[in-house]
Amino acid sequence: MCGKMLGELGAVYLDLNAASFSSYGSEKRGSPVKAYIRYSLPDEEIRINSPVENPHILCLFHEAMIGKQSVMAGVTECTKVIVNTMQSPEEIRKRLKMHAGTVCCIDAGKIALERHTRVNTVMLGAIAGVSEFIPLEAALDIVKDTLGKKSPSTLEENLDGVRCGYTGYEIREFEPDEKYEPEPYKEPENNWGYENAPIGGINTCYGSTVSNDLSASREGYIPIFIKDRCINCGLCDSTCPDMVFKFVPGEYKGRNMMVNEGLDYHYCKGCLRCVEICPSNALVEGIEWEQKELKNFVRNKDLLPDSINYVSVGANSWMTSESPN
Ligand code: SF4
Ligand code: SF4
Repeated sequence: MCGKMLGELGAVYLDLNAASFSSYGSEKRGSPVKAYIRYSLPDEEIRINSPVENPHILCLFHEAMIGKQSVMAGVTECTKVIVNTMQSPEEIRKRLKMHAGTVCCIDAGKIALERHTRVNTVMLGAIAGVSEFIPLEAALDIVKDTLGKKSPSTLEENLDGVRCGYTGYEIREFEPDEKYEPEPYKEPENNWGYENAPIGGINTCYGSTVSNDLSASREGYIPIFIKDRCINCGLCDSTCPDMVFKFVPGEYKGRNMMVNEGLDYHYCKGCLRCVEICPSNALVEGIEWEQKELKNFVRNKDLLPDSINYVSVGANSWMTSESPN
């Protein structure tokens, strides 16, 4: 949606030639999606429609993408990298292993929660602000055009999100550091497919299974489990689309039965359907960034202590030795 809006913004409000397209993986919520946007001056036609190899602006809508995909491939000293994160540009530069360039950090998740808007509109505002050639008014106009009819009741909050994003980032330019190598752009190779899969077919990428880490799809809310209130009815387990709840053999009110042990946040995408269905208020809505101490809570593995042994298991995914259980 944000990529589409940026493409239209260039053509409609900046009098530029513009092209935008997206590349989706699985349609499952939480899967990584890439969107590419090109602008050119009115007298320069855009005749290519392929991934942007050396972006002037690269925007990561969630810091959980860092280290999982080759997000830095093709980044040069001229690139401005915008990241939705609670961390500083210095910390993000280290995590990105960025040779040189500019880093802009914005805690879009927190802004979105406070302003009752979505991360997308905050990031759209940040992209416009960082670009230095997209006026705030144009960014607001394209959001009015796109969301004004679709969801007029949320328009004011979304416009507010754009305004906050436009100026709400911290920016640092970094000189080349020989510690980090520039990463050249390379087309991703898909080695497993219909032509060369082994007979019987196996999925070698755990990342597209239930072990996928869904923290990147959360909008800032997570369910909090209050065990004392739980009546072990199992409704949360049958409602949750992502098998987040762990039921184990136990005892409840003198009866031997499966009891709710809580959530493994690794799999939770924050849809809060479990909160809606729970009849005893044992699940309540919580703010994600306030809950770092929760057992099994994962916002981003790089924010967690080194003592926890994480294993990379494919695109956007990692797990602990306990996760598969
Ligand atoms: S729906 Fe609520 S009461 Fe029922 S098992 Fe889940 S947490 Fe417990
Ligand atoms: S919010 Fe609840 S229902 Fe949604 S994925 Fe997380 S645990 Fe499952």
